[in-house]
Amino acid sequence: MSSRILIEDATLVTMDENDGVIDSGNLLIEDNIIKSIFTAAEDTPGDVKVIPGEGKVVIPGLINLHNHAAMTLFRSYADDYPLMEWLTKKIFPAEARLTEADVYWGTSLALLEMIRGGTTTFVDMYYFMEQTARACQEGGIRAMLSQVFIGTEGCSEGFNTFEDAIKFIENWQGQDEGRIQTILGPHALYTCPPDFLKKVLKETEHLNTIIHIHLSESKFEVEESIKNFNKTPVALMDELGMFERQVIAGHCVHLNDEDIDILSKKGVGISHNPCSNLKLGNGIAPLQKLIDHGACVGLGTDGAASNNNLDMFEEIKLCSLLQKGTLEDPTAVPAKTAFELATRGGARALGMEGHLGVIREGAKADLAILDFKKPHLQPHNDPIANLVYSASASDVETVIVDGKILYNKGEFLTLDEERIYHEADKCAKKLRQ
Ligand SMILES: [Zn+2]
Repeated sequence: MSSRILIEDATLVTMDENDGVIDSGNLLIEDNIIKSIFTAAEDTPGDVKVIPGEGKVVIPGLINLHNHAAMTLFRSYADDYPLMEWLTKKIFPAEARLTEADVYWGTSLALLEMIRGGTTTFVDMYYFMEQTARACQEGGIRAMLSQVFIGTEGCSEGFNTFEDAIKFIENWQGQDEGRIQTILGPHALYTCPPDFLKKVLKETEHLNTIIHIHLSESKFEVEESIKNFNKTPVALMDELGMFERQVIAGHCVHLNDEDIDILSKKGVGISHNPCSNLKLGNGIAPLQKLIDHGACVGLGTDGAASNNNLDMFEEIKLCSLLQKGTLEDPTAVPAKTAFELATRGGARALGMEGHLGVIREGAKADLAILDFKKPHLQPHNDPIANLVYSASASDVETVIVDGKILYNKGEFLTLDEERIYHEADKCAKKLRQ
């Protein structure tokens, strides 16, 4: 028998082609799909769970395009270091001590935080990815998972090889009723030389999967690439033919005009991660310029070690304010555009436009409901501006993924919150030593 949920009399921020907002709208979910949206009273089937929507705003579930979920264990573990020192002196040595259990509990903690904050889909890259997949399966979230690997000696090598990453894809692709999708995650150009990336590209074609990689994150990375290959990382990726495949590129901060042109023309999915870029002192990506060129951009948090939370509402607000401030232009990245990046933009980058990041009939029932009866979200002048400039993750009241309620009014329905805090803390304590 079908399961049905009816959200009654709510404000629906659809983010469809018209960027529409429907006041006093009703939304019927049947199984994992948005079955219908209507305003006039309609006969609803008897066996339906009703969620009263008065004073509530329903949004498409947010899409976090770049994360390392298990790094919640390193939240507030190493702050205020330069990027390369942070990586080589603090993060890589700690990661060398990681066990499968650490990744499982670290990811579970990230899932609590993401679900609690209205994120319904995330893209991840990390070690022991089967543990991340296990946690996602239990939590019920939608995930695009890549087991990270590198092609050079050193760094935190020794954990997962390219072959392990392929095995992970073979074992997990499409699991959990399709909520778990698997992708290939070569770490970055500075850890994966061109010849190795050619091998990766071949495998990507063979597995018919997409690529998730860090790209042009720091000035150092770009300078090294120019020194070694006489090309920017973006131009090098293009020359290697990587952009003939679907790519999700994390960061893309340091770009010249030619890079922006390549990324836009090739439809590369860019994860803009403003908090992490600021915190690691990497600068501010030319977001408005990318948007002007029609680039495919979404938002991500990056790992909690460099953020230090997984709150997508912060990224949404920050991405807009940073452009306004740096360009000295208050019209830069307006509210609708910023919110679109975290919803429809993310879906586009994943090749899931029309199915995720939107409220429309036939789309996946991945939704978040926010309680707007709060001082900072009143009055009701413009719900999208309120979502972008005034709301935060803690305003989320209910989260639905694939038609299932995962979180409602302070209660997690799939995850054991207390146990996760306890176990994650134990793991973090051990890793600190
Ligand atoms: Zn990253």
